[in-house]
Amino acid sequence: MTSTAQSDLLGAPAAGSAFRSERILMTIHTRPGLEMVPAYRQGKAASPGASKLSSNESPHPPLDSVIEAVTARLTQLHRYPNIGAETLRAAIADKNSVAAENIVLGAGSVEVASQLIHAVAGPDDEVMFAWRSFEAYPSLVRISGAIPVEVPLNTDAAHDLPAMLDAITAKTRLIFICNPNNPTGTVVDAAALDAFVDAVPRDVLVVIDEAYVHFDRSQVRADGLALFAKYPHVAVLHTFSKAYGLAGLRVGYAIAHPPVAENLRKVSLPFGVTDLAQTAAVASLQAEAELNVRINEVVQQRERMYAGLIAAGYPAVASEANFVWVSAGEHSAELDALLAAHKVVARTFPGEGVRISAGSAEDTDRVLAALAAAHAEVGA
Ligand SMILES: *Cc1c(COP(=O)(O)O)cnc(C)c1O
Repeated sequence: MTSTAQSDLLGAPAAGSAFRSERILMTIHTRPGLEMVPAYRQGKAASPGASKLSSNESPHPPLDSVIEAVTARLTQLHRYPNIGAETLRAAIADKNSVAAENIVLGAGSVEVASQLIHAVAGPDDEVMFAWRSFEAYPSLVRISGAIPVEVPLNTDAAHDLPAMLDAITAKTRLIFICNPNNPTGTVVDAAALDAFVDAVPRDVLVVIDEAYVHFDRSQVRADGLALFAKYPHVAVLHTFSKAYGLAGLRVGYAIAHPPVAENLRKVSLPFGVTDLAQTAAVASLQAEAELNVRINEVVQQRERMYAGLIAAGYPAVASEANFVWVSAGEHSAELDALLAAHKVVARTFPGEGVRISAGSAEDTDRVLAALAAAHAEVGA
């Protein structure tokens, strides 16, 4: 090969060869059912200087210790990651007082949720979850060919566990309980969740998605790990994206009993969890004290924001996560515009409500200033 040809391999297409997709006649067979897969809608991006409160991310940059650990691994980018990820799995197992064989990793807990669905449900099986809940559930279920069964939240914007029990059929394979729930921030009662799990047939997997568990300050917190220890048909989902502030690196995990865990590994994306992600997660588990300070600050900002919303007359829902849901209904677009005018980017579900992530004290100041400005206008 000549040196010219080699450079062409990585270079831009030659002038005049621009690809025009509209000229291609589409003849490829499409898998039936794909038209039912809804596209994932990401939280809006923010312009520089605005408060990005649309994706429940940490307002803090990565810890210095995490940046150092990751930087030290950059020279290994030409290598595939270790699929076994023994170091990280041992550290996670230790933290959660389970065995390493109970830990299955994925490229974010979204990928682990996908593994769980693919491991237990096939075409025409049913996967149940509350609605509204995590945006990814419906598409992940559709992608697998299974049928999403959405059980409406109750009037408190919380899981309606009795209705979910009633919705179980012979085709139900998996039930997601998102606790605290995204986007409403509500939690299920510990005793009620235990009774629910106990009433679910043992061949149906109950997955307790605890993406926001670190922010939960409920009096009697429903504890996914305790339910995992007690019941063979429970698995727990955790992520490094929220409290640990590693959303950009994509790493999450399931805690599952051995037969389930083995099946999850079968359907996992090979090499899905990068070496940098494994390294950052291990470093984060060694910095829990430092992270807890940050988590407590976010909880404080959540409470400040909630109190401000209530004082301003908004139908905010008390939250145990790192965001607050305002069930603004038909006024959602207005609230979104008001926040945007004060450089706050929130997550708005038109006609339903607005979810505002808890960020720094300055972020909360902006939200409160927006509410005060609206109040001044109405009063004028
Ligand atoms: C953000 C979130 C996750 C985590 O997703 P990652 O893929 O780990 O970033 C999982 N479940 C819920 C309910 C979430 O809101």
